[in-house]
Amino acid sequence: MIPYGRQDIRPEDISAVIEVLQSDFLTQGPAVPRFEAAVAKKVNAKFGVAMSNATCALHLACKALDLGPGDTLWTSPVTFVASANCALYCGANIDFVDIDSRTFNMCPDSLARKLELSRRNGCLPKVVVPVHMCGQSCDMARIAELADQYGFRVIEDASHTIGGSFQAEPVGSCRYSDITVFSFHPVKIITTGEGGMAMTNDGNLAGRLSSLRSHGITRDVSRMEKSPHGSWYYEQIDLGYNFRMTDLQAALGLSQLDRLEQYVSRRHELAERYDAALTGSSVQIPWRSKDSRSAFHLYVIRLSGAIAGERRRIVEELRNAGVSTNVHYIPVHTHPYYARLGFQSGDFPLAEQYYKEALTLPLYPQMTESQQEHVIDRLLKAVR
Ligand SMILES: *Cc1c(COP(=O)(O)O)cnc(C)c1O
Repeated sequence: MIPYGRQDIRPEDISAVIEVLQSDFLTQGPAVPRFEAAVAKKVNAKFGVAMSNATCALHLACKALDLGPGDTLWTSPVTFVASANCALYCGANIDFVDIDSRTFNMCPDSLARKLELSRRNGCLPKVVVPVHMCGQSCDMARIAELADQYGFRVIEDASHTIGGSFQAEPVGSCRYSDITVFSFHPVKIITTGEGGMAMTNDGNLAGRLSSLRSHGITRDVSRMEKSPHGSWYYEQIDLGYNFRMTDLQAALGLSQLDRLEQYVSRRHELAERYDAALTGSSVQIPWRSKDSRSAFHLYVIRLSGAIAGERRRIVEELRNAGVSTNVHYIPVHTHPYYARLGFQSGDFPLAEQYYKEALTLPLYPQMTESQQEHVIDRLLKAVR
């Protein structure tokens, strides 16, 4: 079976993990800060705070920005549920902004309209979470302008997008946001098994993120309320969690990070081959923004026109031919849990239309050209 995504683990990754297993520290050792510094350097951010996964990083990013009961967070309906759940973990309200059908990202014009309406009604969001779908950045310059104008904070959900850039600057630099979150789940661009990281240029936010990650405890004297009783002393200054990444994971991440550019280039090569093979067929290929270089986490086609409504059959035909596809994503507001919060089908029509038509084709660095030929051949037969 050709999967839709898959990690790439090399002998050097395995050696790096074994080295940690033979060292003094499996967790809270030197590999985690080394990985944090390496990612921060790679994406031009001042700080990186590694976590158990990106969901934890989104949760703590909201906490660090003091999102709480009575506040509201807005995100895109076309995302993994974690981008919205983070608001609910904090007791805040959640709402969505419909997508741009071309980018599949939150539409900046819809965001501007919704902000203006909400300003008049006195219910502006405290935090907005743009999601860089498939690895292509949102228009962050525009979103940052709106953030200035309406006074909200910005967390980029860049789970798909390490190695991507916007206006020639790496995603993660936080030039246009307060915090940017990466995921290192095995289907993403680089992996630590489970893992995530929150990037920021704000030293206070970095301090809060790292103390919240470890029970709300600090060993930093400048952050303490009392004077230390001795070298063992620490203070719990916040209610935090244990959302730490292990040193085994960090060592794997460090080793993977060396191949980030290679991975993204290979994804582009494969995406260009898909583009060429599918142009002129009945499927719609993904649009590329001139403002950004995608990390190409996902290659999503749309099935519309003559093949609208045929997705289920096409997915099954591909599956029978050994090709596993996927759909990213079921719009968050249509899940039963969100329906119970009052959302309805029809609330975000462009996201819902997108969901009817989207199909994610296999794409991962180790995919061979003959595997890709097979996918293309079977897809073209299925949509003919
Ligand atoms: C994968 C993903 C997450 C969650 O990442 P985990 O590391 O699995 O917690 C959040 N948002 C988006 C858009 C994702 O794709």
